[in-house]
Amino acid sequence: MVTPPSPCAGVLYDKPVKIYPRAVRGRFDRWRRLMVGVTQLVFLGLPWLTWNGRPAILFDLEARRFYVFGWVLWPQDLIYLVGLLVAAALALFLFTAVAGRLWCGYACPQTVYTEIFLAIERWTEGERQARMRLDAAPWSLAKLARKSAKHGLWAALALLTSLSFVGYFTPVRDLLHKALTLDLGPWETFWVAFYAVATYGNAGWLREQLCKTMCPYARFQSALIDNDSLIIAYDPQRGEPRGARSRRMDARGAGLGDCVDCTLCVQVCPAGIDIRNGLQNECIGCAACIDACDTVMDKMGYGRGLIRYTTARGLGLGSGWRGMLQHLWRPRVVVYAALLAGVLATLVVALAQRPGLAVDALRDRGTLASLSADGVENTYQLLITNRTETPQRYTVQVVGLPGVRVHSTDLPLEVPPASQVRVPVRLVLPHALAANVAAGSHGVSFVVRSASEQAQAQARFLLPH
Ligand code: SF4
Ligand code: SF4
Repeated sequence: MVTPPSPCAGVLYDKPVKIYPRAVRGRFDRWRRLMVGVTQLVFLGLPWLTWNGRPAILFDLEARRFYVFGWVLWPQDLIYLVGLLVAAALALFLFTAVAGRLWCGYACPQTVYTEIFLAIERWTEGERQARMRLDAAPWSLAKLARKSAKHGLWAALALLTSLSFVGYFTPVRDLLHKALTLDLGPWETFWVAFYAVATYGNAGWLREQLCKTMCPYARFQSALIDNDSLIIAYDPQRGEPRGARSRRMDARGAGLGDCVDCTLCVQVCPAGIDIRNGLQNECIGCAACIDACDTVMDKMGYGRGLIRYTTARGLGLGSGWRGMLQHLWRPRVVVYAALLAGVLATLVVALAQRPGLAVDALRDRGTLASLSADGVENTYQLLITNRTETPQRYTVQVVGLPGVRVHSTDLPLEVPPASQVRVPVRLVLPHALAANVAAGSHGVSFVVRSASEQAQAQARFLLPH
């Protein structure tokens, strides 16, 4: 019996063919280069910004504190992070439904770093044909020099990127000083090395393979886009039948469409696909093929847009931007937009009203209750968090059980800015009052006050028989 071939055979396990994208200039290439500049400025610049004498953005995992400009977030603030992640997911759904793979083509780190690494490759090894010749040529001193220069620059850039990335978790000035004096700690060394290797491997070697086989966003995009999402497409009605011709030839008279079959759109494609075969999963929406084809159309004296931004419906109907915009507000877009607006509004209000003080009361697990000369005692640890950026002085009271008093040598308490302090406290119920209270567990509240606000923490006071 003959086993039918797997549908994956020859797709997933074929050795990837190296792609040598040709350089292209044009409107969208300018946008891509602008986005490289903007994203790198933000990514490399943010760790150097300061706010109130500390890094403006710092995810201090060791101290379990996140600094984001004026906010100091603690583990108890996880709910805001969850809200932010939900908002990010909804924004991604909305953006993809409307704009398709615009993110992939212009702002995804994989695209941005591949652009930079490719620019280095072109600078050290030459244009497409020269790179192909160099790879096919036997090893020589000249080839070694070019390859070493490329890989040296790639490695330096990967290291710079990784230092900047780790600079979001360790103050970047200290990090740089430690790196220059070879004094990095084991975890910093690990993450700098890990991120540098990842950048070098992803942008230098894997490139389009990462988008094709590893990126989860690319996998579920097809479920998010529809006939009215923005895509880049070749117009077969206008382009076919394709064929080479001279500029002076009457192509229409010869029964030809506008595609001159120059294959420039294929040569510039970083994913190595032919957009003329229709919409393909591998297409990252970089628009390089639009720039290439527009250049050809200009030379031939044809109108631009044989390959263009459009929608599946717009392409089928031959409608322009106005027609496509009429289908912008469809049910899925309205639902995503409404959900996103709701989550963002809730998040903004919650963050604006976020208290500057948080209190937790933890019972001392060693002793349930004890008797002293003063009365019946229960002991606790109060966890007081000053989330503000100024030092605060706190007093503590207890309510819920008449006559019970707070004892602590640490009160009133000074807590530095953005700090958490653990305070041991005793609650004492005098014997005379304890005689009138039923034995068992009683609810009490610790009330912690500063000059401007107060917070409460619930606890249980145990009265033995
Ligand atoms: S088909 Fe065009 S838009 Fe898609 S990846 Fe290739 S060059 Fe970029
Ligand atoms: S660049 Fe334009 S004209 Fe040339 S092959 Fe591609 S679609 Fe045809």
